[in-house]
Amino acid sequence: MDVNVGDILMMKKQHPCGGKRFEVLRVGMDFKIRCITCGREVMVPRSRAERNIKKIEGNTPPVK
Ligand SMILES: [Zn+2]
Repeated sequence: MDVNVGDILMMKKQHPCGGKRFEVLRVGMDFKIRCITCGREVMVPRSRAERNIKKIEGNTPPVK
């Protein structure tokens, strides 16, 4: 699974706000991702995040 900073991830499990698309802010032991829908940032352990990824949409400009 090749995830890079700036990628937009489509997740299987949605954020409590209903959003499914997240922007990658940092990768490492944990992923720091931001929900594009509500702007909230979350830290997720890499293994859990990777299991939750439905699709990597690539490095598209974030929708603000
Ligand atoms: Zn959200």
